[in-house]
Amino acid sequence: METLDVLNLVGGHWLPAQSGRTGLRRDPADGTEVGRYADSDADDAHAAIAAARRAFDTTAWAQSPRIRQSAMLRWADRMEAQADALARLLTRENGKVLAQSHGEIAAAISEIRYYAGLARYLPGHVFEVEPGVFSTLLKEPAGVAGLIIPWNAPAVLLIRALAPALAAGCTVVIKSAWQTARLSGRIVHALVHDNAVPPGVVNVLTESGSGAAQALVASADVDVISFTGSNAVGQCIMAAAAPTMKKLSLELGGKSCCLVFDDVDVQWVAPRLAAAATIISGQQCTAARRVLVHASRYQEMKAALAAALSAIRVGPGALPQTQMGPLIDEQALEQVQSSIEQAQQCADEVVLAGRRLEGRFAAGCFVSPALIAHRDTSAFFIQEEIFGPLLVLEKFEDEADAIARANHSVYGLSASVWTHDGARAMRVARALRNGTVWINDHNKLYAEAETGGYRRSGIGRLHGFDALVDFTEIKHIYQDAGVVPHRDATA
Ligand code: NAP
Ligand code: MG
Repeated sequence: METLDVLNLVGGHWLPAQSGRTGLRRDPADGTEVGRYADSDADDAHAAIAAARRAFDTTAWAQSPRIRQSAMLRWADRMEAQADALARLLTRENGKVLAQSHGEIAAAISEIRYYAGLARYLPGHVFEVEPGVFSTLLKEPAGVAGLIIPWNAPAVLLIRALAPALAAGCTVVIKSAWQTARLSGRIVHALVHDNAVPPGVVNVLTESGSGAAQALVASADVDVISFTGSNAVGQCIMAAAAPTMKKLSLELGGKSCCLVFDDVDVQWVAPRLAAAATIISGQQCTAARRVLVHASRYQEMKAALAAALSAIRVGPGALPQTQMGPLIDEQALEQVQSSIEQAQQCADEVVLAGRRLEGRFAAGCFVSPALIAHRDTSAFFIQEEIFGPLLVLEKFEDEADAIARANHSVYGLSASVWTHDGARAMRVARALRNGTVWINDHNKLYAEAETGGYRRSGIGRLHGFDALVDFTEIKHIYQDAGVVPHRDATA
């Protein structure tokens, strides 16, 4: 049998797919082979769900916060010991710049420790609702959680779902993205290589299609689905989860606006916006997509953004001078290029045209950043998420116009406000219909701070204490204990 670089983990055993099928991942920077993975389907999912169910129902995991905490702390230590290798693998599989990979691995480790602490802080509450009548509200683990994780930030996005699920006492089946499956496998290996984690508490599958993911969503034995991905798939999941009425956490797409007021230093802001738009080559849900600038600074911003975007050095993420790596694969490159070309055809002005890199980078999935300017907010490239390095520049007349433009969207994931007027920053942040608003910064995400979407950007929150809500149920236990009779009354 051929050796696989990525096996499934089912009930404590690392296994090939039951069908024997395999898939191949190539480095998006140069097309070389990164490794072969087990290419799973619904049969593998059913086996993994059964293992997770058994572990939840028959081991002490769900009732042992101290064991969960210490296992998670050891997991963080093991990941820290191999942080450099994990970061390099992340860059190889995903393409992102090595410094960003180092930052992502460090953030993931920090987040494991954050949730390890919370494993021992899941307090409920008790009321004496009438004399001697007690209502105990107990937080219980929700059961088996299915986690569907994308490739764009595969360490942090895995940890921000897996760590709260484990802290809460759930058992899990992870469907990792095939593009970044080696990294997911190594992260999970660092956790389950621990006697305190019973077999079946964590199971992992990789697949090139979505049969295993669909089986997770449909299964009556899965109590929670935590999905990070696109709106289109999020809608399918919500519909498919209806018959079993499971808990859903949906972290979906976005179209982040950056509102720039007239009092800022445009030369300082523009390179920050260019970096916010090109993070992971624009393949981040919160990446800057629309820059809305006050009319008095519009021409200056246009020139400064064009200069900042064209100065970005595109190339393999492993090279030290690179500031933006390739897109994730050929299919993504084709889709993004075609959307950018269409946008460039209908935009009021193409300020900087995006193009595929040629010459020595022709074998990689590289595209350069693009900037267009447009007035009408109903244009498809202002309304739809384009998962690549395209930035749209718009002009506003006053605060109310800026807010109306930014809120003209079905998305509501994140936005930023750039001004030195503190009251205005707060007013505008309050008026924006988004789950996150940054003031004078963009893309700042922390383990401690809940993130999630208003409107069609999703349901629920990950990161922060409230991520535990997705993985817990609240049980009301009623007891009429009665009152101790007063001594004098019985005398
Ligand atoms: P995607 O196209 O939605 O795919 C996500 C995963 O779901 C893939 O593995 C996909 O398999 C699978 N899938 C497809 N149909 C399914 C179904 N009916 N049931 C269950 N699973 C199904 O997303 P992506 O391209 O991987 O990731 C990019 C998207 O993620 C962007 O929209 C981005 O904004 C979003 N995102 C959001 C956040 C956040 O925090 N809100 C963070 C990161 C990314 P196939 O590949 O076979 O289709
Ligand atoms: Mg997809």
